[in-house]
Amino acid sequence: MTQIKEAPSRSTAGRRPVGKVRPSDTRRHHRALILQQLVDGGARSRADLARETALTRVTISDLVAELIAEGFLDELGTRPGTHMGKPATLVGISPTAPVTIALDLSADGQLAGGVVDLVGRILVREQVAFRRGDDFSVISDLASRLRDATPRRILGVGIGTPGIVDASGTVVLAPNLGWEDFDLAGELAAAIDLPVHAGNDANVAAVAESAFGSGDDGGLLLVTIGQGVGGGVLIDGRALAGPLQSSGEIGHVVVDPEGRQCNCGNRGCLETFLAAPALRLLETDAARADVGSKLGSVLTPVVTTLGIADVVLYGPAELLEGALLDSVRNALARQTLPFVAQRVQVRLAPLSDELVLTGAAALVRYRELGVV
Ligand SMILES: [Zn+2]
Repeated sequence: MTQIKEAPSRSTAGRRPVGKVRPSDTRRHHRALILQQLVDGGARSRADLARETALTRVTISDLVAELIAEGFLDELGTRPGTHMGKPATLVGISPTAPVTIALDLSADGQLAGGVVDLVGRILVREQVAFRRGDDFSVISDLASRLRDATPRRILGVGIGTPGIVDASGTVVLAPNLGWEDFDLAGELAAAIDLPVHAGNDANVAAVAESAFGSGDDGGLLLVTIGQGVGGGVLIDGRALAGPLQSSGEIGHVVVDPEGRQCNCGNRGCLETFLAAPALRLLETDAARADVGSKLGSVLTPVVTTLGIADVVLYGPAELLEGALLDSVRNALARQTLPFVAQRVQVRLAPLSDELVLTGAAALVRYRELGVV
């Protein structure tokens, strides 16, 4: 299972100060256990839930009744009985359960949004033009339209944005959007009157690949390749924030000190070679292989240090497949312990997987319901 990263400061969920456990915390935790089981494993009986969560039958019945009343769960028919007794009634996530509004700010020139259900399905999708310097109302207008596009109750709004984002949803620094100390979550919450949670785009994508995709639940490193280059790290099922809240920022590792000026102020960052616009200019496989080798050299110490076996490149498949991907694999194989090299897989998650959108929804699901 994965957990969304929680930085220590200004956090509302997780990592509460050690102290007396309030009854409401216990209840919230038990509700999360039930929802988690149903999200991961599909419909099952109350008896199954009691066995799997180690909660009593009475507690399960009580909480399931509450979750049905709130619209999260429904009774979904029966499982044929055995000779032991009557058929068991199955409960599962309601087809009309509350949904999340998700926004993806990671692409250049556009803002994507969606209505996403509790199991990560995108029910409505829209996109609008959005560039650095555009008015904030472009974001709040899209969120409002999506809110009006679904009759279902809305749990909250999740945003995946480039840059360093703190646990309260303030964008500390996003050079590509020109934001510094911008209270993105707070501004949108005031505009739309819903709970809003924001996270770094690569981090929420890494969570989505683990929660909804085929990612290794134990640990993965996801590299986003678009207008910029970012990275998200999950280790032992937890997304890492790091004390600087900037973990995964591998796009700004300098790979050529004589190279081109980067948005961050340095020269020759990995991003200046690997971002999609730079890759589009390359005309030969040899040039793509050279970039793949640079990426492999940046990834090797990270993968080796953390003991990660699943490396995912998330970007335009037509630019990454073939020479570049092969070269990343070769660079990793050459530069780390054979034990590690034989076990690491480097693979591609195409942009069509919509990992930032579903990851933004996963952030809301975790913060609001405790479901990972
Ligand atoms: Zn840079």
